[in-house]
Amino acid sequence: MEKTDISSMTRQELAEYLAASGEKKFRAAQLFSWIHGKQATAFDQMSNLPKDFRKRLAQTAELTVPEAVRVQVSKIDGTSKYLFRLADGNVIESVLMHYHHGNSVCISSQVGCAMGCRFCASTIGGCVRSLTAAEMCGQVYRIAQLSGSRVDSVVVMGSGEPFENFENFCRFVEILNDPEGYNLSRRSITVSTCGIVPRIRELADRGTQVTLAVSLHAPNDEIRRKLMPVARRYSVDEILDACRYFFEKTGRRVSFEYSLAAGINDTPACADELAERLKGFPCHVNLIPVNPVRERTIRQSAASDIQAFKRRLEKHGVNVTIRREMGRDIDGACGQLRKSYLDGPGSSEESNKQAEE
Ligand code: SAH
Repeated sequence: MEKTDISSMTRQELAEYLAASGEKKFRAAQLFSWIHGKQATAFDQMSNLPKDFRKRLAQTAELTVPEAVRVQVSKIDGTSKYLFRLADGNVIESVLMHYHHGNSVCISSQVGCAMGCRFCASTIGGCVRSLTAAEMCGQVYRIAQLSGSRVDSVVVMGSGEPFENFENFCRFVEILNDPEGYNLSRRSITVSTCGIVPRIRELADRGTQVTLAVSLHAPNDEIRRKLMPVARRYSVDEILDACRYFFEKTGRRVSFEYSLAAGINDTPACADELAERLKGFPCHVNLIPVNPVRERTIRQSAASDIQAFKRRLEKHGVNVTIRREMGRDIDGACGQLRKSYLDGPGSSEESNKQAEE
């Protein structure tokens, strides 16, 4: 018999599940608090639950506990990258970053990714499967436990497209936000999408108070299509309309990610066009120097072009920052650690790393 994934249930769902299994309903709050508040990794840790109840749980249900198989700590800024093995043997990666405003964890939402962005390592092997809500929560809990630090914010910006895994993403937010669980405010959760327009609107309709980041990477459809296949599904206009709708519904200012690739999207004309399109919309642009991936031909823009792009946006009154590169020495870009792990010791990145260890 397949065991039930109770770690992916919201508190309400857990209460219904226990009631349907003939258990006492009030046990749901206790069990939820063990799984998500105390982040228990085994039923026998749940000391205030009757032994026979724990035994029944162990027979019918399972806890999701991603296992850390590799941790790399940057010597430059203390950023740590975690490679987790899931119950089915798949591996995913997550990152812990220390900022002056607190500790931030970047999690994956899928094993691999189907979106095919030209500069991204996560998408090279396609999407293997979506993660469960528990596998998303588990990345946060394990990092908190292993690093001994409270996680102050979570960004869903690792491998995968969260809006292609929308229901599990929403359940993840509800669970992480639950006062009986990790109790992380929705405003401390940022989700990054390549621009799946119907899901941006749905998130707005639900009034979910998370921070929305949209990977724009281009001022128009023509350039965007060169970088992102998803640009053939949704136009920049449709994306910006959906973002305006999100702002109207939630009052939350949207962030736009813009990865600068040499000679493709980093010209002064691109900056002017971007500023024109964003005019009057309360938003923030986050410039990301493209992190070169071995398998990709796209190159990082020159530092002087990045600065010039920023100044030009500022001149037009756009709120803009350049993302600080974290963990450059430990496979900083999305999906690189997982990829070098899967490629095995034969890959040059892998042997470099082992030499350093
Ligand atoms: N699928 C989501 C979230 C994952 S990627 C999305 O597309 O937003 C998080 C951000 O990093 C995205 O803006 C993505 O385009 C960007 N990114 C991925 N690989 C990169 C690389 N090698 N260099 C710079 N930015 C990259």
